[in-house]
Amino acid sequence: MELARLTEDHIDMCGIVAYIGHRPAQPILLEGLKRLEYRGYDSAGMAVLNSELHIVRTVGRVRVLEDMLAKQDGFEGTLGIAHTRWATHGKPSERNAHPHCDDETNGHGIALIHNGIIENYTALRTYLQGRGHTFRSDTDTEVLVHLIGALYAGNLEGAVQAALREVTGAYAIAVICRKEPDVLVVARKGSPLMVGVGKDEYIVASDSSAIVAHTTQALTLEDYTVVKLTRDSFRTTTIDNVPVTAQVRELEFDLEQIELGDYEHYMLKEICEQPRALRECLRGRIDPSKGQVVLGGIGQYARELVKARRIIFVGQGTAMHAAMVGEYLMEELAKIPTEVEFASEFRYRNPIIEEGTVVIAISQSGETADTLSALHEARQRGALTIGLVNVVGSSIARDSDAGVYLRVGPEIGVASTKAFLGHIMVSTLLATFIGRRRYLSSDYVASLLGELEAIPDHVERVVGLSEEIRDVTARYAHRENWLFLGRGYNYPVALEGALKLKEISYIHAEGMPAAEMKHGPIALIDDGMPVVVIALRNSQYAKVVSNIEEVRTRGGHVIAVATEGDTEIAQHCEAVFYVPHVSEPLQPMLTVVPLQLLAYHAAVIRGKDVDKPRNLAKSVTVE
Ligand code: GLU
Repeated sequence: MELARLTEDHIDMCGIVAYIGHRPAQPILLEGLKRLEYRGYDSAGMAVLNSELHIVRTVGRVRVLEDMLAKQDGFEGTLGIAHTRWATHGKPSERNAHPHCDDETNGHGIALIHNGIIENYTALRTYLQGRGHTFRSDTDTEVLVHLIGALYAGNLEGAVQAALREVTGAYAIAVICRKEPDVLVVARKGSPLMVGVGKDEYIVASDSSAIVAHTTQALTLEDYTVVKLTRDSFRTTTIDNVPVTAQVRELEFDLEQIELGDYEHYMLKEICEQPRALRECLRGRIDPSKGQVVLGGIGQYARELVKARRIIFVGQGTAMHAAMVGEYLMEELAKIPTEVEFASEFRYRNPIIEEGTVVIAISQSGETADTLSALHEARQRGALTIGLVNVVGSSIARDSDAGVYLRVGPEIGVASTKAFLGHIMVSTLLATFIGRRRYLSSDYVASLLGELEAIPDHVERVVGLSEEIRDVTARYAHRENWLFLGRGYNYPVALEGALKLKEISYIHAEGMPAAEMKHGPIALIDDGMPVVVIALRNSQYAKVVSNIEEVRTRGGHVIAVATEGDTEIAQHCEAVFYVPHVSEPLQPMLTVVPLQLLAYHAAVIRGKDVDKPRNLAKSVTVE
């Protein structure tokens, strides 16, 4: 197992399958989509080309698409493209599902599927609208297919190359055109895509799991490569039409293995993905030239937010812990009095909502029932509601006034990891966004944003400690009771560390403010109890070291998370995991990572099913 296997790929935004050959395309495409289902998605679609272009799209499962196809005629053909979408721009709906087509009146019958994000789509859309194009969806993707249509002059490959020279962002695309019924054009930059090479046929997919049933030979494409496929030939070029040679390689067979890459579990995959996830989360949200935070989803509500008199965060579980970090961030950076409540408690205790109250709902899935109903209650009482969720178009995203998406990619592991970091990252952005309009100087904001941009690299370093953490964990994994202690920003991290351990390894653990221990829980400490202490070099360092001594005196075994370069701490503990130095408000994004890895390794060592912990569901959609 290679722990920090981080490829350059964009966070996988669901799936692409395309086929050109001599067999009927439809069953091959459907089967491919099913193979990609494990990634999580919100809608699906397919286009098959014979003398006409036939398209079907739907919100929801591939099964629904299959039922629709069973009732439709015309989908006989040996060339087609199919897609599962994980919405980034535009909520999940039939009109936003892929394939998208070029302009209805001036078009050429071009259909396209896309994984990734076209970042400059707003400018391109305005340009194309000026030239008479009418858009039928809210996606970034549709802009690209219109652009290809506008540039089309009888050669699909050339039009795709020319269009890709104009776009920024990440893409894996597959394109077909009614006027060229023997051509499939695919391309990639930053999103995964490979071309399976069969006998007089090609199967293209974003993931080899959709290819291996047909062939084990595949072209792995470099960024900015365009491939023109006919039934018996292929040509690879750059977007500037310079021919390139693509390497054919042998694919592996073990599907389960491929889906997880080299990882044993989704949880570990997602922990290791965190640096990339955070880069994605930050992308386009920091304007370094102006020292500003850019949050499109807040839009017209910016003024109201800045004038807020009180903020209430609501969430459950890991989201609740992220909300607690959010509280500290809001009070420190935005200087707005802030509270945190379990959504389930808030909802039923007749909460006080006054003029100027803002309620921020935190949820990975955007479907957490308790949080959704708290949000509805807050809205009915007149609060401005903000949703911080990962899944685009989810109920919380739809039902709040404004919001910020995490953009950390699908989270499959039941124990949430990368969404926690995503929530803290967007809360930091939001607090800075508000703070800059209130009390923060431009110098302070510029330096904070600079630090924020370095966080993904720091997280990558901490992820690299995985094996060291595993070895230390092995010494204590048999213990049934653990404590997690932290102060300030690291107090919610202590709670999260304990929750992770409980969730997947079934070890009893409690998290608490380090100072609270001596007010009761210290009675629990007996010889050999593992106590994890977050002891970073910050304003409370000396106090935390005293807390460590209190534990040691009573026979507890201390494992610390400390600041790189701290030569003193090791004398007080049995093991230390070092993280890079950052300002206090940013520390939770680093200090939680060793605790995630500790919980993961403890569960594996104890032989537990990490990705399917007993009694738990990924998103709790009942109150
Ligand atoms: N950005 C595109 C959309 O929102 C593609 C999303 C995906 O990768 O599935 O439609």
